[in-house]
Amino acid sequence: MNRFKIFLKPKKEESILRFHPWVFSGAIQKIEGNPEEGDLVDVYGANNTFLAVGHYQIGSIAVRILSFVPCEIDDLFWLDKIRIAYQLRCSLKLCRPENNTYRLIHGEGDSLPGLIVDIYANTAVIQAHSVGMHHARHDVARAIQKTIPDIKNIYYKSDTTLPFKANLNNEDGYLFGGKEIGTAIENGLTFNVDWIKGQKTGFFVDQRENRSLLEHYSAGRSVLNMFCYTGGFSFYAMRGNARLVHSVDSSAKAIALTKQNVELNFPSDPRHEAYAEDAFKFLGNMGDNYDLIILDPPAFAKHKNVLRNALQGYRKLNALAFEKIKPGGILFTFSCSQVVSKENFRLAVFSAAAQSGRNVRILHQLTQPADHPINIYHPEGEYLKGLVLYIE
Ligand code: SAH
Repeated sequence: MNRFKIFLKPKKEESILRFHPWVFSGAIQKIEGNPEEGDLVDVYGANNTFLAVGHYQIGSIAVRILSFVPCEIDDLFWLDKIRIAYQLRCSLKLCRPENNTYRLIHGEGDSLPGLIVDIYANTAVIQAHSVGMHHARHDVARAIQKTIPDIKNIYYKSDTTLPFKANLNNEDGYLFGGKEIGTAIENGLTFNVDWIKGQKTGFFVDQRENRSLLEHYSAGRSVLNMFCYTGGFSFYAMRGNARLVHSVDSSAKAIALTKQNVELNFPSDPRHEAYAEDAFKFLGNMGDNYDLIILDPPAFAKHKNVLRNALQGYRKLNALAFEKIKPGGILFTFSCSQVVSKENFRLAVFSAAAQSGRNVRILHQLTQPADHPINIYHPEGEYLKGLVLYIE
């Protein structure tokens, strides 16, 4: 493939020398040739030394780096990356019959900026966030097939994640297989994952460990799973012997999925009820019935300029829970907004707690699981934050 050259301004190579995987457009002195979005580019310092190879992008991030050493981006490259990622997940004991649901590739965290791959039993769902990764989708699919022989289906789902302006006319669909679909299992619990119509790749894989922790706190408690989506936290609570579990989401589709999944794991269990309702309305109207509440809202801030509103949203939401939760209650509260820092989230939750005047203690500080690794040179990759609080 034709490779273009990009030369940086003097002194602008510093972040690459510290292995940060992005080159910002402001750092560029000169582009040789006329690369199109998604093309491979070699990045050089002002003194002509090779720095990196990556995918060219139009926008403030101009290059997403694939390698800091000169190399071909060929079948061997993809095979190597997928193999390393798979070995890590196997060593984390995620690839086994009792748990066949995990994230195989987490973008920068697996040195593949712009690429997400989630595995659900024998199906891999590929999601590209850049034009470069869109062009590479078949290479990635081949490498997955070669590395994980159990994979029988590969679905490509990028309609909502590709840069809108690139006009790629992408159509989501199977790159391979599509007939024999296996059952997704997380820690022994079974899920129907709808990668075709569902949010993200169909399931929130990143809450696996936090759901397990919740299970340990559930015995004898009345649980409210707010923002339940496909019900993940609910069945862990049920398996943990919760007294009752109420799942709430504003989306009727999500509630239907939750009900289906509860039925799969706990058929006709009278402990579970699900409601399609707005979170603020439900929390505002509910009594003090619950002593274990989960708040796992969608990202309130996707951009820095709405940060203030987002923090207010987290404060309001948490304040409702602090106000209503029974004494001795436990709150699992999360933020998945990348632009909201751990400190800011804590501050929002703290001011909600103070507003309630109750005695609140932090039992656990939660984050994303090991199959969503954070590249140490790319701290922006840390996005999931959670607190487990004990409220007197
Ligand atoms: N906890 C879930 C993931 C939550 S994703 C899990 O473990 O899988 C966020 C969910 O919040 C989505 O399902 C979305 O439909 C729901 N949601 C968004 N806005 C809402 C609102 N105002 N009230 C209730 N649910 C909302």
